[in-house]
Amino acid sequence: MQGVGFRPFVHGAARGCGLAGFVRNDGRGALIEVEGEDAQIEAFAEELVRRAPPLARIERIARESIATTGARGFAIAASEASGERCALIAPDVATCADCIAEIFDPLARRHRYPFTNCTNCGPRFTIALGVPWDRAQTTMSGFAMCADCAREYADPRDRRFHAQPVCCPACGPRLRLETNDGKPEPGDPIARAAALIASGAIVAVKGIGGHHLATSALDARAVAALRERKRREERPFAVMVADLAAAERLAVLSDASRRWLASAERPIVLVPRRADAPVVDGVAPGSHLVGLLLPYTPLHHLLAREIAAPFVLTSGNVSDEPIAYCDDDARDRLAALCDFRLVHDRPIHMRCDDSVAHEARGRVRLLRRSRGFAPRPLALPFRAPRPILACGGELKNTICLAVEERAFVSHHLGDLEHYAAFASFREAIGHFERLFDARPGVVAHDLHPEYLSTKHAAALAAADPALALESVQHHHAHAAACLAEAGHIGRAIAVCFDGLGYGSDGTLWGGELLLADCAEFTRAGALAPVAMPGGSAAIREPWRMALAHLDAAYGDATPAGLAVMQRNAARWDAVRAVLRSGTYAPVTSSAGRLFDAVAALLGLRDRVSFEGQAAIALEQCADPLERGEYPAQLRDGPMLELPGAELIRGVVGDLRAGRSVPQIAARFHNSLAALVVAACVRLRDRTGLGVAALSGGVFQNALLLERVCDRLERADFSVLTHSAVPANDGGLSFGQAVVAAARDRQRALG
Ligand code: ZN
Ligand code: ZN
Ligand code: FE
Repeated sequence: MQGVGFRPFVHGAARGCGLAGFVRNDGRGALIEVEGEDAQIEAFAEELVRRAPPLARIERIARESIATTGARGFAIAASEASGERCALIAPDVATCADCIAEIFDPLARRHRYPFTNCTNCGPRFTIALGVPWDRAQTTMSGFAMCADCAREYADPRDRRFHAQPVCCPACGPRLRLETNDGKPEPGDPIARAAALIASGAIVAVKGIGGHHLATSALDARAVAALRERKRREERPFAVMVADLAAAERLAVLSDASRRWLASAERPIVLVPRRADAPVVDGVAPGSHLVGLLLPYTPLHHLLAREIAAPFVLTSGNVSDEPIAYCDDDARDRLAALCDFRLVHDRPIHMRCDDSVAHEARGRVRLLRRSRGFAPRPLALPFRAPRPILACGGELKNTICLAVEERAFVSHHLGDLEHYAAFASFREAIGHFERLFDARPGVVAHDLHPEYLSTKHAAALAAADPALALESVQHHHAHAAACLAEAGHIGRAIAVCFDGLGYGSDGTLWGGELLLADCAEFTRAGALAPVAMPGGSAAIREPWRMALAHLDAAYGDATPAGLAVMQRNAARWDAVRAVLRSGTYAPVTSSAGRLFDAVAALLGLRDRVSFEGQAAIALEQCADPLERGEYPAQLRDGPMLELPGAELIRGVVGDLRAGRSVPQIAARFHNSLAALVVAACVRLRDRTGLGVAALSGGVFQNALLLERVCDRLERADFSVLTHSAVPANDGGLSFGQAVVAAARDRQRALG
């Protein structure tokens, strides 16, 4: 990877071992030639592995002997301009400890300088215009280095040796604070902005991958105002705290979440909030989790220390449009959202949202893989014969460019139905093809004919006869992403539970059991299908799914007087008529919709403002100590059927018996887990497959994941789950690339 200080490190190590020669980036990695005594060379080889700089990743080392040349001294040779240009641009890296010490050192040249960085930290992906990684190819190109910075840049012993974005107060970007209509605010911008945030003003802060909105997390009025302006009623806000000690005061941290919070990637980590945490409830309404993140730029460090209290740091946008990142766009879009703007003159070239992670069953798992991770490649389990572009899904879209054994999955691009998200989807495709110098021979896409990503893939193929189209069924892509993440090449039983995905038969799937490898799949089982009365209205209104599931479980014998009916009495009969008419009532096997139905039955949510909201409420209210479950029998046949109706009857029976909502919620999870495992066992009996892969957005549910994994392991399955790749649709592009690569490889092998 370029820009991580590997060549300077090699330079130092070789000189330290008394070797002559050179190091050079050759596109596939670093090429090193050394000559000297065997013992020196052995010592050097050991150094390479043991002391590599923090951001360098050594995938493997290949060694061969060549004739000596009598070279003297050790040189860093220029990159080879010709040949492969697949030079890897690093992700943006959180400020390192040395740079933090520097900005808080009153005697240092960069005291309080918000753009301090070095070879071990700072912006990368978001400021890269192209390759090679060179200042002229970054948004720092407009800033000429001063003599002091130039000296550090040229000194192999300095930690800024060849650090492309190096700068200082004399020569680098400048920070300014202004009102929302652009009038400069007097005084020190950081001190003033910190005081404004602490007092409950809403301040837009230009960060690394976009503009955020910041306000006090202790001020209910400020948080409510921010929700109103952003038109974001309930979705949780992330909270930034100065350090781990401050995080510990708000939440209960495990070792793993502590490690992730403080990692160089610095994702937002969802952690259990302490009952006495001072942050106001409006930060994450009705949730016992809170999304925390630690500062990852010098600007955040300076602000956090000055504010000395937790503050909301949420993306600068309205509702779920993409985060604003261009200066003009941000000025226009954020004017009505913020009171002040803390901005600077270093352009952001690529928008990049914060990454989000949570812990489930003892492992931290990415829910959104973006800043800090993109565009670091994921490994494909085999080599792709031709470069592949995978266009992903529709919601939480990412794209993936696969070249040989590497899959470059993009940052989070958002919901493509938003024009701005679709625009950044197209930009990202062009940018990735340039950055990784790949011209795709295959373009992979979802089966859904209405996804904009599908239409875009078709348009690309129509414009270029050399480009082969490869369609990949939604849940097969989920399964392949899970298999490939685990490096599992063979067949497995894949449990793919999510909201909705287009099935091979043209109906909407979402509660699937597949027998799948990376190339092909067969559908071996599914949740019993029910109709969604009103189509997409049934996604926004879970009570409609309660109605549909009640109708499937009881028909005309549906018990009267259930609370969900009473709450929705005015529309109940009309919606049931829609359901039974079969028009505007597409049929689905979705697990997500079953969770919606149960959440509505239990009175948790009749309506949702974001995807997954009802399922999250159901998970959070479940009593983790409850072990009861409902009797439910798998229905055998060429395709197994998981009878959702039996779970619904169990829930309704318990409701009528007056059992508590937390107990019923837990019993539902337990019963569904039991059905899934029974189905896996049946499929193992039929096929001999002992590996189960769990994928799809529903498996972001930590309780369900835990229950299913526990039971599968007790039944001697080897279980594959997601961690580096999101289980949700953010992981689809990777899965599509895996499937396309596997099929292309089979074709190439004949
Ligand atoms: Zn640094
Ligand atoms: Zn300077
Ligand atoms: Fe999905």
